[in-house]
Amino acid sequence: MKESTSIKSYWLAYGIIAEAINDEKSMDHRNKELANYYENAENMGILGLADTRFLSQLCTEEEIQIARDTAASFYDYWKRKQKTEDINELSESLNERDLTEEKNDWLASIGVTKQYDYPYEGIYDISVGVSHQYEKGITASGKYADYEIKLQEDNTYFMSNVENVERFFYNNQHGAQKLYDSLKKADNSDLLPLERRAKYRIEEQNNIYQVLGGETDVSKSEIIIDSSYVLYCHLHELTHLWTQPEQEEKTTEDIWFGEEIACYGALQVEEYCGVDIKSYKDVDYFFVLAKMLESADTEEAKKILELYKSAGGSMEEKEFNHTLFNDIYVHENIEKYGLEIAIQNYNYPYYELFINYLVENYSLEDVIEVVTKHQTVEETFGKNFEELQQK
Ligand SMILES: [Zn+2]
Repeated sequence: MKESTSIKSYWLAYGIIAEAINDEKSMDHRNKELANYYENAENMGILGLADTRFLSQLCTEEEIQIARDTAASFYDYWKRKQKTEDINELSESLNERDLTEEKNDWLASIGVTKQYDYPYEGIYDISVGVSHQYEKGITASGKYADYEIKLQEDNTYFMSNVENVERFFYNNQHGAQKLYDSLKKADNSDLLPLERRAKYRIEEQNNIYQVLGGETDVSKSEIIIDSSYVLYCHLHELTHLWTQPEQEEKTTEDIWFGEEIACYGALQVEEYCGVDIKSYKDVDYFFVLAKMLESADTEEAKKILELYKSAGGSMEEKEFNHTLFNDIYVHENIEKYGLEIAIQNYNYPYYELFINYLVENYSLEDVIEVVTKHQTVEETFGKNFEELQQK
């Protein structure tokens, strides 16, 4: 069905099928059942009507039936609203749309008093199917990427329920768009390989101490995420893909500039990233690091946390000060180990500080020249790599 027509969403297809076969469940009867179901605000996720809600890999038979009935009824509403029966026109009218308002309108029309306010509304242009690669998994494709995702039974993993899967698609789709736009703004963005289409392969492993948990093979356009930090690293890795040339051998300098620009990219789309290991859901990696220091209970750890707190930093999840903590963390480690060793041991905080310094004092365009190998560090910055690092 999806291959042979222009219908991109399962829900629209089900709506059309329900109408065509004129199934015996009358619309009135169906709407009464749905009204009853959606009167419980916790059930609203199904009304998101993402493809994921129609897959037995992710939902129960009962949930799928609700999704189908919702599709049939909402399709009927949508047709009347658009004043057309033309399937292509209806399909077009849904492109990249947030239907929150219309869904609330529909709910009211069947007599539901609760409001629809699903945070991952509008992922219709990610089409989802059953994976061939994993026994229990899904495959998907969207505007910028294709995906193979292994689903997990253990709910301490991120990819273990339909809502998280939708959250990933939502964040990846919107984050990729924003990342693309922010890289495109550079005057020399034509140097970047922004045409590369990402192939995400997500197969979580329980290795929580692996910092970022992803890797990108630019020669295959492949992004492999093999930790539980799915939401933390998905856009960092995409920045690697969209900025770095194919290279056999990489120097320390290449690695630094590659990581720096990846950290820069992730910072531009921070609202679509987060850490998702169960105990520290939705928070910054540096918050996890701070929490690890808290439980490590060593002298250095205590000192870093004290400095952070006395500078006004909070250990409350929502008030955690990423930049302040990062500054203190880096500073303390340089003091303790000396610049050279500290840099080797604690790379990511440095990458982030360094790229912020370069973009502020030089420009993103300069960094792009170096990352894409169009100019050397000396040509661009008038200093060699070691001299720049001393800053
Ligand atoms: Zn990286």
